[in-house]
Amino acid sequence: MKILDFNERLKDSILIADGAMGSMLHEAVGAQRCFDELNTTEPEAVFRIHQAYIEAGAHIIETNTFGANRFKLAPHGLAEEVQRLNSRGVKIAREARESASREVLIAGSIGPLGLGVQSRHPAPEEIQDIFHEQALALEERGVDFYILESFSYIEELLIAIEAIRSFSGLPIVAQLTYAEEGTTYGDVRPTNAAEQLKNKNVQVIGANCTLGPQALLPILQELAAVDGIRVSGMPNAGFPKREGDRIVYPRSSPEYFALFAREAAALGVRILGGCCGTTPAHIRAMAEAAKSLRPAKTHPAAPSALAFTKPAPIAHREPESKFWKKLQAKQFALCVEIDPPKGLSLDRVFEQVDKVMASQKVDAIDINSGAMARVGMDALVVAGALEAALRLFPISRLAIRTSSACRRGYSAPGPSEVSATFSRSLAIRHPSAIIRKRAASTKSIPSAWSKFCIA
Ligand SMILES: [Zn+2]
Repeated sequence: MKILDFNERLKDSILIADGAMGSMLHEAVGAQRCFDELNTTEPEAVFRIHQAYIEAGAHIIETNTFGANRFKLAPHGLAEEVQRLNSRGVKIAREARESASREVLIAGSIGPLGLGVQSRHPAPEEIQDIFHEQALALEERGVDFYILESFSYIEELLIAIEAIRSFSGLPIVAQLTYAEEGTTYGDVRPTNAAEQLKNKNVQVIGANCTLGPQALLPILQELAAVDGIRVSGMPNAGFPKREGDRIVYPRSSPEYFALFAREAAALGVRILGGCCGTTPAHIRAMAEAAKSLRPAKTHPAAPSALAFTKPAPIAHREPESKFWKKLQAKQFALCVEIDPPKGLSLDRVFEQVDKVMASQKVDAIDINSGAMARVGMDALVVAGALEAALRLFPISRLAIRTSSACRRGYSAPGPSEVSATFSRSLAIRHPSAIIRKRAASTKSIPSAWSKFCIA
């Protein structure tokens, strides 16, 4: 397919790509040493999945060749099968297209080499040769365009693009995968990635895998704000978990994906699909939702409601407490530790704290987290109550056992400072109660502060 034609197709419409291949094959034929090998051993299973996605309304199907490169095939003794597995992958997709009653585009799927997972790290020239070999095999058998997907490192993605562009004039969709923090493993933000990719003759820049629909939207929003690019997005069904020897994805509802499609279209996203754990039902819901939608022409000034779920940056706000200011000024500060009450009443605590603070000699109240495995009120709750009732800015301790709950978005009633004991530290700022992971050591904490923090 010519780049001009591809661009034309995306000008005013949203194309729906298919969903997961790997997890569907896993369901169909069980665990495999190599899913790409199924192009020769179980072509019927691969064909049926393509067909199911076409029936669900996909305009694009991806070849089952995500890992069909020499580097990833070698550990299975399949290094010499690159040409055959890619060729068969395209052949199966073409057969599925022929059985469809409407036009379907075939995208040659190319995944990363899995650097970092494997111990050997080839030189850039070798990486380029590996991608060149796979891309050539896909193009010779007749893909319409390429999808480079799930890349964690932009450097590797750039090499793959260069390998393709050394011989090919087919369109390229280039997708990185981002963590919840909005960066790739190499710490690149979407805006920065788009800036690096936009002059490399790629037609669409996107994000796929790792994140579910809700977490992917802010990434797509950031991409969509970059001038002069078209954006694609393919979320996972959610976070996977292990059950025995199986990786299981949550059964997130197709309606949820329809909602995602509407939100993404409002951002101007042009290609929508699914990644790990998604099924034809998810694709059908997105295809139905997209029928009545056109991609937004302009970059939306106001982010959508879902995109707002990204925590607001809090890096620039200083805590308001006198205690913090004293430490900043390197003045001596006095802190009194109290234990949370065993029951539900806070009256006695209020009374004590009131007395202590009235002495004017104490700068802060430090609430213990109760390391004695005793039932009692949570330190965060006590801190929130003290702040609300007495306008204090107490320090609430968190034991490491509570830190994971906090990282998941524990919404505290409003304590201003939280210290986590041991080596990890979390900071909660009132009023947003958004928890920010700080450095993995106490290094980021001012030294005077750390004396109070480390129990
Ligand atoms: Zn995935």
